[in-house]
Amino acid sequence: MRIKNQRCKRVPVNRGTTILYGKPFAYVVRSVVRDERCDHCLRSGKLSKCSGCQYVYYCDRNCQKESWPTHKAECARLKKVLPRVLPDAARLMARIILKLNQGGADEVGYYTENNSRKFKDLMSHYSDIKVDAKRMEHFTTLCGVLFQFLDETHLPNIAELMGIYGRMCTNSFNILDLDMNTIGVGIYLGASVIDHSCKPNAVVVFEGTTVIVRTLMDLPSLDWSQIRISYIDLLSSNNNRREELRSSYYFWCDCERCKKEEPMAEAAACPNSSCDSPCSIEADECEKCGEKMSVEFKETFREVVDFTIHHLEKMKTMAYLDVSKICLKKQKGVMYKFNIQHVRTLEMAHIAAMNLKCWEDAEFYGKELMPGYLLYYGEIHPLTGLLYLTTGKIQLHLGKPKEALRALNKANTVLMITHGDKHSLVKEELRPLLYQAVMESNSGIHSA
Ligand SMILES: [Zn+2]
Ligand SMILES: [Zn+2]
Ligand SMILES: [Zn+2]
Ligand SMILES: [Zn+2]
Repeated sequence: MRIKNQRCKRVPVNRGTTILYGKPFAYVVRSVVRDERCDHCLRSGKLSKCSGCQYVYYCDRNCQKESWPTHKAECARLKKVLPRVLPDAARLMARIILKLNQGGADEVGYYTENNSRKFKDLMSHYSDIKVDAKRMEHFTTLCGVLFQFLDETHLPNIAELMGIYGRMCTNSFNILDLDMNTIGVGIYLGASVIDHSCKPNAVVVFEGTTVIVRTLMDLPSLDWSQIRISYIDLLSSNNNRREELRSSYYFWCDCERCKKEEPMAEAAACPNSSCDSPCSIEADECEKCGEKMSVEFKETFREVVDFTIHHLEKMKTMAYLDVSKICLKKQKGVMYKFNIQHVRTLEMAHIAAMNLKCWEDAEFYGKELMPGYLLYYGEIHPLTGLLYLTTGKIQLHLGKPKEALRALNKANTVLMITHGDKHSLVKEELRPLLYQAVMESNSGIHSA
């Protein structure tokens, strides 16, 4: 792990600076992508099965060899699990336990040149978890699996197990691929020192299994007590974010964004179609234009909200374009344009259209989605940058190189900050697309 020199304490840090990167203490590939991703480096492509367990997959002998010190303890045990699948949490916990037994307790993760942490330094939230019925139930189930999976000689006592479980739950990072899909989960000792904000000044991205923390804003100096990342998805209302943070991380968020009201997030559209003000469903009339909110209108709004929530929930594993379109039709004139459910529905429509290669629809919904992303994720955020990149890519497909070039230039501005020019997303995805867009828009000029 390399660290920014802390002696330069008063030196300003520009946005787009890598302030930390590190390898995981322990990690696992998500079981749903187990046969699509290398168990060691998490890359996709042509993979071969481990002949020992027939459970994990690798790119090549190299990855298998490098993984062996970790995998050898699980290989024979995973073989016994098949055809069942070991839950991700159980596999990660087993890897942590095995690692701690093999001297991992002394491993240190640095976040500055002089400051580091060991696994035991992570917060265990022992007393919070003990009174958390949901987590205790999960813990009990996990213990059942672990007792079957590992020999009893490997397992620490219950109190220690619960300490490990608590550290794992409240400190693990979702490992994301270039498209920001979760492909694994891991513990990063250094990065776990960073606190949360719903208006973060830094962001976590990944290159393979390596965690990279980059600044999103110019900072007067690198003061680690002031660095904030987001633990959760920011496309969410104040109440939902606070509740998620409380139930998953045991704190009540009091960040700048949470303290401000966000009247748009759950708002109805104004019944007066020529007014663009968000309306609270509790109010009797629009604050801006005074249009009355009838009982029928409120009823329709609530029905549309329920309908949308129901279908968004059902589309969690798979987005459907027709279903999204039906939701959007019902939302028209009823939900405010920045209502979170509406933005989520646009996102579903965009994703579904992409999957179906319906490029016109994909471009349309991508453009519709952008204002919501800019509002909730912010101008400088990996997802905003990716949406620009995707839009540009679609526009190249559609033979609109000039529009594509504009979108890709915007993607470049964002991703140079969030990822940097050395990241493979910029080097291998964005740059070739930019080059193509430049070439095609120039040839367009000549032929015109
Ligand atoms: Zn590999
Ligand atoms: Zn194996
Ligand atoms: Zn907050
Ligand atoms: Zn109004």
